[in-house]
Amino acid sequence: MGTLAQPRCRVRMRCWRHPFEVAPYAGAVAALPLPLAESELEGPDRALVRSLRPEASARWIVTLGSALFSVVLYEALWGWSIALGLVLGMAFHELGHALVMRQLGLPRSPIVFVPFIGAMQRLQKSTPRPLDLALLALAGPAAGLLFAAGCKVAFLATARPALGFLATAHAILALIDLLPFGALDGARVRPLMHEPGPARVVVATTLVILVGCACGLM
Ligand SMILES: [Zn+2]
Repeated sequence: MGTLAQPRCRVRMRCWRHPFEVAPYAGAVAALPLPLAESELEGPDRALVRSLRPEASARWIVTLGSALFSVVLYEALWGWSIALGLVLGMAFHELGHALVMRQLGLPRSPIVFVPFIGAMQRLQKSTPRPLDLALLALAGPAAGLLFAAGCKVAFLATARPALGFLATAHAILALIDLLPFGALDGARVRPLMHEPGPARVVVATTLVILVGCACGLM
């Protein structure tokens, strides 16, 4: 990768074929249909370029649009409070996954809410480490259970039936998701169970704790 003469230039980008650097004209950078190496940007440059990336706004539109569509459909059946609580809990679950993907530096598709099925996002680059995969899998149900616990506390404080329903519903969803079958999150923990070492014990203990929390919240 070449280097620009101006030492103050801190915006660097890379295209698929020809790595190169550009002057700090963020507008022009954002207009180029090339993926940015965000990890190479610094401070305000990074935030500015990220906010101007065309695909960044498209991702938000997909996520928020599909969430709104799900809320409207659920509202027709169960009312606003249940509809919002269902979608918010699913968002917590997916954000749990997304947080770990971000920590591991794994690119992902935007979160998409699918009415009456749930929400999903896709890893665009898999991880070969069973421990990473297990942590990634457990983060979703753990975040969903955190939301369920919040609903439970609010239910105990206010006695609003909708909050009790949401606590139970998200606890059941987390419990189902922890089953070690098919495309469920629980199945992604299985590869680690064949590996030696203490990580297996820690993850298995975490799994048991999550199952216990889900049962307790139902
Ligand atoms: Zn999940």
